[in-house]
Amino acid sequence: MDTMQAVVFHAPHDVRVEELPRPEVEEPGDVLLKVDLAAICGTDLHPYSGRMEMEEGATLGHEYLGTIEAKGEGVTEFEEGERAVGSFFVACGKCWFCRRGLYMKCMMIRVFGMGFVLGDLNGAQAQYVRVPEADLTLRKLPEDGFDDEEMLFVGDILTTGYDAVRKTDFRPGDVVHESVAARDGCNNPAATCGVVNDLGEARGTFGARLA
Ligand SMILES: [Zn+2]
Ligand SMILES: [Zn+2]
Repeated sequence: MDTMQAVVFHAPHDVRVEELPRPEVEEPGDVLLKVDLAAICGTDLHPYSGRMEMEEGATLGHEYLGTIEAKGEGVTEFEEGERAVGSFFVACGKCWFCRRGLYMKCMMIRVFGMGFVLGDLNGAQAQYVRVPEADLTLRKLPEDGFDDEEMLFVGDILTTGYDAVRKTDFRPGDVVHESVAARDGCNNPAATCGVVNDLGEARGTFGARLA
């Protein structure tokens, strides 16, 4: 059996790099991605610090980019050897919400690396990750012009921050006094009102500019 190294959650403050079976293509829409770069998200700190329960053995990580190692027969947008960045979650693409482009509200939503309660998908802080519904979940990386470190922001950090600011109805040029929170992290259902929640906790004033 082929193996790989991955970051495995055992208990709060107990995370280990371990040797695990290498994932394989299981469904026609799957891509097996060789992970070139992965980030640690603030959301990873919830189980790490004990604020969120997670079962022992779950693999962490949901911000990632990499190279297509293999693909299922249903994948049409990617070829082996191409490089792609992925969303932190998988939507089914078929339910009422997905058909209206509201992927974050997908009835079947699964989040990488957040354990059983959020869909039981293995995480991307690993040498390989299985990416379901790859045509929807992945986007090709541009051939040049951006570093991997910049593109890594696309799958959660940049998009979540943009979505959170958009929901506040702030517009370029707006000046906001008092407390303003800059937020990153996952736009999961518990965090969709992140900016609003953070307003009560912010101690400083930060500026944000949207081009
Ligand atoms: Zn759906
Ligand atoms: Zn994240």
